[in-house]
Parts: sequence; C-alpha cells; structure tokens
Amino acid sequence: MESQNNIPDYSLPEDRVPLFEAEHLGREEKAALKAEIAGLLKARGATLIAHYYVDGDVQDLAEETGGTVADSLEMARFGRDQGGDTLVVAGVRFMGETAKILSPEKRVVMPTLEAECSLDLGCPPDEFQAFCEANPDRTVVVYANTSARVKAMSDWVVTSSVALPIVESLDAKGEKILWAPDKHLGHYIQVQTGADMLLWSGACVVHEEFKSKALFDLKAVYPDAGVLVHPESPAAVIDIADAVGSTSQILKAAETLPHETFIVATDRGLFHKLRQRNPGKRFIEAPTAGDGAMCRSCAHCPWMAMNELTALADMLRSDALFAANEVLVDPQIGERAMIPLNRMLAFQA
Ligand code: SF4
Repeated sequence: MESQNNIPDYSLPEDRVPLFEAEHLGREEKAALKAEIAGLLKARGATLIAHYYVDGDVQDLAEETGGTVADSLEMARFGRDQGGDTLVVAGVRFMGETAKILSPEKRVVMPTLEAECSLDLGCPPDEFQAFCEANPDRTVVVYANTSARVKAMSDWVVTSSVALPIVESLDAKGEKILWAPDKHLGHYIQVQTGADMLLWSGACVVHEEFKSKALFDLKAVYPDAGVLVHPESPAAVIDIADAVGSTSQILKAAETLPHETFIVATDRGLFHKLRQRNPGKRFIEAPTAGDGAMCRSCAHCPWMAMNELTALADMLRSDALFAANEVLVDPQIGERAMIPLNRMLAFQA
C-alpha cells in the first residue's frame, strides 16, 4: 500500500492485527474454537494470562474468561494474586517462569514451551555469572526478560514499566549498577538517570529493527502524528518519540495525548489493544526498513506469534500436552529468584 509521496503506508487493517491467527480460520470457526477453549479452561480450573503482544483473540479470551491481558509486570502480579491453582501463560518462556517463581504452588502451563526471547537467549547464565563476578562492587539489576537462573543472580528484577524509578532510587543511594541484558533500554535509563551503569550487550530482535531515518520520512508524511516508542528501540528512534514507555505506558499515552494519529514503535500485537481502547484514532506501524534493506522485517515477535488459538486449544485438549507444557523451575533457583522479583513488586506497590 502506498500513501502520499510514495512512502509506504504501514497502517494495518483490522483483520491483519496480528497477522498470524487470521490466516487460516474463518469467523465462525474462530468463534467456535474460542468457545471450546473457554470451556476447556473452565474444565481444567485454569486462568489465562496473556501478554499484549500475543494474538488478539487470545487477548480477548483471557479477558472474557476472567483472566487478564497485561504487560509482564502486571502478568506477574496477577498470576501471584489470583486464587486458582492453574495458570495458562500466553507469552514467552520467561513470563511462564516468572509466574512459576512467584507462585511455586501453582501449576503453570504454556501453549508452547518453545516461545523464547532474544534477550533471554542472549544472556547465558554462565557468561552472566562471570560478568557479575568480574564486577562485584555493582548492584545487579536485570530485566524481566531473562532466565530464572539469571534472575537468581540478581539484586533487582525490573520490567520496562518500573526500570526507570528503580534505577533512579538506587542511583540516589550512590549504588553503581550492572545492567542486563537489553543495551538499548539500559542506555535509555542511563541517559535519563545519569546513573553509573555497566551494560550487557543484548537486544530485542523486534525493537532493534526500527529505523530512525525511515521514521523521520514517515513523520514527514504524517506531521500531526504522535510517535510512541518502546525503550527497547535504538536511541535514534527514541529521540524522535513524543512518549517513551512500556506497553502499558504506550497504551496510556495513546489515550491521553491529544493526537488523532500515532506512529507506534513496538510489536504489532499491541495494536489490538490500542485500537480497542481508541476507536476513533489511527495507529501506524513504525518502519523497520533502513535505506539499504532488501526486505522489510515485520514488527512482530516470532515467539509471541506461537501463542495462537490453535496451539492453546491443542494444549488444553490433550492431557499429555497439558503435562508436557508445564513450566518447571528448580525450587532452589526459584526461591533465590523470588527475592529480587518480590523486591520489584514491593517497590511498585
Ligand atoms: S518482542 Fe523482543 S523482548 Fe519481547 S519477547 Fe519478543 S524478542 Fe523478547
């Protein structure tokens, strides 16, 4: 699709957000599958907790069946506080692990255990341990997008919703920080707080692809648009933003800023909620193509995309899959990782 000045229009029609689930199911088939999943959740006494980046129908199902759709901080809190004994986490593996760490007595299952995260994968525990040991004078702050073992080595776990105030408070106490794994988020916090931060060099495969030059060009086509950016994006993209924040903070900015049109630099899964909450507003994907790109990568996490309705239904139908897809965390590691996680939850409370 081309717009004015031959610059591509990145806005997505309703039925293409996100791309995956709508490809093979008709409206009636999908409705029937959702009803079946709702029944299976009830039969298994399970609560569905979904991230904003997963399939829009899975997000809706979570809300319709008494679960929630949220950012990773609120997913963790909701999982801990809700009363049932089985959680179905639609997200990526570290989210399932976090739910298990905070609720060791609950059964936590996922539509697939293969849903990884490039930040988690890019921070192997043994290498991270050596990094910590080489810098023993620093307070270890890790992003939630890490394995249970890495969390267990940390003093603080943070999500993008609370990273800034937590680092601010540590800096005010004169603490030097070792930060992992996202270098872009770490750099953003370093610039905002002036804290002494030593950064691990990880990145999100989705957010790292947003390009500032193409974003400038798109902004010229839509001069009245507000630009909303997740801080896992490169600094040059963040510099163009009207608002920088986590998924929940982007949602809030879209509701409160006066713009009618927004260019959004985060995973396209969030467009489902952005549109639901702001029916009169227009949301356009931030471009992921640079000048030299041969093709444009899509702004959708391949691992989040694995959380489809069909994968969820298959897992809930089959006792064998339901057992195989249980998230397990070594109890000793879980106990140690619970300390920095609870510190974060208490800070935010
Ligand atoms: S979008 Fe990026 S940070 Fe989020 S799960 Fe995917 S790879 Fe990880």
